[in-house]
Amino acid sequence: MDFDIPEELQLLARTVREFVETRLVPLERQVEDADRIPDDVLREMASLGFFGLPFPEEYGGAGAGDLGYCLALEQFGRTSAAFSNVIGAHTSIGSMSIYLGGTEEQKRRYLPDLTAGKRIAAFSLTEPSSGSDAASIQTTATFRNGCWLLKGTKIWVTNGPIADVVVVYAANDRAKGARGGITGFIVEKGFKGFGVGRVDHKMGLRGSTTGELVFDDCQVPEANVLGGQVGSGFRTALGALDIGRVSLAAGAVGSSQHLLELGIAHAKRRQQFGKPIAANEAIQWMLADSAVEIHAARLMVYDAAWKLDRHERASLEAAMVKVYASEMANRVADRVLQIHGGMGYMKDSPIERAYRDARILRIYEGTSEVQRMIIAESLLS
Ligand SMILES: Cc1cc2nc3c(=O)[nH]c(=O)nc-3n(C[C@H](O)[C@H](O)[C@H](O)COP(=O)(O)OP(=O)(O)OC[C@H]3O[C@@H](n4cnc5c(N)ncnc54)[C@H](O)[C@@H]3O)c2cc1C
Repeated sequence: MDFDIPEELQLLARTVREFVETRLVPLERQVEDADRIPDDVLREMASLGFFGLPFPEEYGGAGAGDLGYCLALEQFGRTSAAFSNVIGAHTSIGSMSIYLGGTEEQKRRYLPDLTAGKRIAAFSLTEPSSGSDAASIQTTATFRNGCWLLKGTKIWVTNGPIADVVVVYAANDRAKGARGGITGFIVEKGFKGFGVGRVDHKMGLRGSTTGELVFDDCQVPEANVLGGQVGSGFRTALGALDIGRVSLAAGAVGSSQHLLELGIAHAKRRQQFGKPIAANEAIQWMLADSAVEIHAARLMVYDAAWKLDRHERASLEAAMVKVYASEMANRVADRVLQIHGGMGYMKDSPIERAYRDARILRIYEGTSEVQRMIIAESLLS
């Protein structure tokens, strides 16, 4: 077994790390206060190819595969989660739905602009009455007069309010549900009947735009049925979510590693009772436990990404790494805040932001409970 990361992927990770440190870290406060990533920074990220990392070069991607993409997201995890979130929703689940489920014509029509970051993508499944039970969606798709009409409301769509292209999952046959009743549609911002509703105010992830999308008999041409196959949408959504879960875990590893480094530095620097707090076993164990868990999560990410790159089925590994890394990231954030004491609780500390940002990891792209359901189902089948 070879654990070496190929040289070109190591180079990619170093490039992202340098960009994160020089360009993004200085913007953290601005993004937090404005709740927005400046447009010129998004353009710069696009020009560096960060919106097309895993996709093949024939579609304008960087050809880094899922492992390269995860290595990059690990480095993006070292700064405000807004950056990994805009890339993640665009790449892992938005554009990825088209890459995994689209026809060749759809891939050639949409992916080059998406991988170049000229257009931003989103993935829209969740509805007010359908969260964990994603197959119960109520948004309907009806074929009338040569085109599809979408009717319903989607919520909490990451990138939704800023997206140019949204892959929307709707029910063509509610009775059939996950088994042939859900279809993916490639919806463009300008389509008649498509509207952006409420933009959400969140606990964390400031700078990442999330909101409601309204489909009022939204007209979608037949050519925009994902994969040209009515009823095949749920499978595509699950495939994209596998990659989403692994890459999200990669970001969790990066943010935890960064927090651990901040925790070590603070523990060595901060003096109480006449010695650095790092001299206390209570502090050392928090650092040691964090290092162990980060190492385990990182190996799980690399293993799952490697399997995805080999086109192996990795839904089980994706669920395992998602639940482990997201819960690990919450434990690490909590410990590192504890090591910082009151200082970690203050708004001008990056720990406070990271602590809030970590909480969402256990909820979106399938909650911890849903991941455990997937794992248990596999064990018991
Ligand atoms: C910031 C943010 C961004 C998001 N981005 C997107 C996006 O881009 N696209 C998109 O489609 N969706 C998005 N979502 C939606 C997200 O995927 C859902 O929030 C998530 O799947 C959980 O659904 P829910 O919030 O409705 O919780 P619910 O399904 O209502 O669950 C509530 C609680 O009950 C538990 N629960 C539910 N069923 C069971 C069960 N059978 N057994 C045990 N426990 C159970 C859950 O684990 C959870 O703890 C986003 C959400 C947020 C908050």
